[in-house]
Amino acid sequence: MLPTRGYATKDPISVLEPFNFERRELGPHDVLIEILYCGICHSDIHQARDEWGGSIFPMVPGHEIIGRVTRVGSQVKRFKIGELAGVGCFVDSCRVCASCKAGLEQYCEGHLVLTYNGTEKDKKMPTYGGYSSQIVADENYTLKISSQLPLAGAAPLLCAGITTYSPLRHFKVGPGQRVGVVGLGGLGHMAVKLAASMGAEVTVLSTSKTKEEDAHRLGAHNFVVSRDAKNLEALANRFDFILDAVSAPHDLNAYLNLLRRDGVLVLVGVPAKPLQVEAFSLILKRRRLTGSAIGGIRETQEMLDYCAAKNIASDVEVIPIQQVNEAWERTIKGDVRYRFVIDMKTL
Ligand code: NAP
Ligand code: ZN
Ligand code: ZN
Repeated sequence: MLPTRGYATKDPISVLEPFNFERRELGPHDVLIEILYCGICHSDIHQARDEWGGSIFPMVPGHEIIGRVTRVGSQVKRFKIGELAGVGCFVDSCRVCASCKAGLEQYCEGHLVLTYNGTEKDKKMPTYGGYSSQIVADENYTLKISSQLPLAGAAPLLCAGITTYSPLRHFKVGPGQRVGVVGLGGLGHMAVKLAASMGAEVTVLSTSKTKEEDAHRLGAHNFVVSRDAKNLEALANRFDFILDAVSAPHDLNAYLNLLRRDGVLVLVGVPAKPLQVEAFSLILKRRRLTGSAIGGIRETQEMLDYCAAKNIASDVEVIPIQQVNEAWERTIKGDVRYRFVIDMKTL
């Protein structure tokens, strides 16, 4: 077993504290990655506070992992010692179901092994995430990271990047389309950069007036303060596609009404409580409401390569791990521009 240092929370109401644990020995297809940076996703907070139910404690969060390979198993072909590597939201899956076979492992119908707050393939041993010194992962679930990308800015691509890239691609967002992004946080700011890079006209719908200048810098063409109902009413029937990346309860109907006929609203944000949908919000214009979860390994690699080629990375505030609890509080308040990333050297 490999002694590993990390930060964990022992229950839904405690703060994160130093925690020592053990990683498994490398199997023939495993790589050992020394973690350099790990992003802070709002999902880390939802799960650590058990807002979605079923959380496993102690919990070492973190699924936006960038590091360097320090050891490889005997059969490893894709990685060499010293190479950069990335790990996202899952580290294995059943590999035999229809979704796994289609390269959509995130929708695995068997057992998806989450990077943390899950169990290994034996369905017993808990998994621990990236707020830690090192991780062991199967090479087939480990991503290649271009040296063209800034390392800290690349970490959030492993969740925020792929979660926004995947629905933009699935719904073929591109030139001539009007895209709305609701909530300018970690996911939202990546959605703006990616949708703008794909040629869409992007409008940010935000509760924070102070983010207007940033929104334009990130590539948005329009910025609307969503707290004022009149601002939203003026945009009725406007958008082809809306990506909703809000982490807290909000009125979905106000945004559905901004879609044109046959427009699509994709939920990626996961508020702790159910959202209400008025039947007429969908019926009157045959609008579609759907959701999307992260992305498969193949598409995550495609997104990473796309970002490297287009010089796209996350706007990050790098922090030492000792400030992680404060960073969580600031994330909850929406006070992050636009992703906290932990410098794991400080662990
Ligand atoms: P984040 O950085 O905290 O951003 C959330 C944004 O939502 C905030 O910046 C804020 O934007 C807006 N917001 C927050 N509280 C609000 C409120 N009370 N009313 C209206 N707007 C509010 O979070 P994130 O890391 O981007 O994650 C966003 C959500 O996506 C979380 O629920 C997370 O769990 C989920 N997620 C889902 C997936 C998936 O696979 N589907 C993957 C990763 C994360 P403004 O200031 O602009 O209003
Ligand atoms: Zn995440
Ligand atoms: Zn599967």
